[in-house]
Amino acid sequence: MVTAARFADNVTRFMFERAAIRGALVSLDDTCREILDQHPYPPALRRALAELLAASALLASTLSFKGTLIVQLQATGPVNLLVVECTADLGLRATAQWRDAADDLPDDAPLRTLAGDPAASRLAIMLDPKDGGPIYQGIVALEATSIAALIEHYLTASEQIDSRLVLATDATRVRGMLLQRMPSAGPGDDVAWRQVASRLDLGNAELLGAGSVAKLLAARFPDHDIRVVAPRSARFHCDCSADRVSNALRMLGRAEIESILAEQGMVGVTCEFCGHRYRFVAADALALFGPRDGNPGAPPDVTRPSRR
Ligand SMILES: [Zn+2]
Repeated sequence: MVTAARFADNVTRFMFERAAIRGALVSLDDTCREILDQHPYPPALRRALAELLAASALLASTLSFKGTLIVQLQATGPVNLLVVECTADLGLRATAQWRDAADDLPDDAPLRTLAGDPAASRLAIMLDPKDGGPIYQGIVALEATSIAALIEHYLTASEQIDSRLVLATDATRVRGMLLQRMPSAGPGDDVAWRQVASRLDLGNAELLGAGSVAKLLAARFPDHDIRVVAPRSARFHCDCSADRVSNALRMLGRAEIESILAEQGMVGVTCEFCGHRYRFVAADALALFGPRDGNPGAPPDVTRPSRR
């Protein structure tokens, strides 16, 4: 086995040399902290968002695509919405919306408690190619008890790839390991898959405490040769821009913007992902609509006027 692959803000992929199994390890330290510190998230929600960040980075690392992976959990419980976006080069951003009830949940509240009625909740996985093409979407019901189980279910049901996922977080940093059967695997590989997958019963402490990728893999799979690929860096990255905010304001319509101007004298928009504040003085805000109110506006954008 290679190597000096270390845990940092990165995703490290690996392959079993004599079994049709591949995997990936994600570790998000500064990235996780920076994203979670954008809002005063309740502790239970910090954990859920951290887990969804790690799961999204792992999902993105299994795809060959150029655009952005968008993982959106919509629910009706204490949590309304969790959104994670991950670019092809592992630039991550995330945000969430919640009700006051989330403040009273225990730190380790399970997904079902956070999300409420599973029949009214769902996980949507979208792939925005960012070239004006269609956004591909897969949707799974929120019947799983954890985010790891939910993503496993998505991969197995929608992508038809047997997958096992484990996630660990202390609400400041997060790590995760994904194992998948290669598409080339046949019935002859069943035993090896079951044996390897059963070794993914890692506890929080073992996953968060592991010193290096190599040590963790050697400890978990001592009887396998594993080839480790050079890790890819992950980081907090928000691609909000004045253009995208302008599009969102056009969607609100001239009447709404005029009403905000009458009340506040200017239009301020805070990016929910990174906290960047955009300010439009009256002339600039009205110029978005041209001389007459007939502009159909651009497609909606996830950057919305902040509630803050
Ligand atoms: Zn932003």
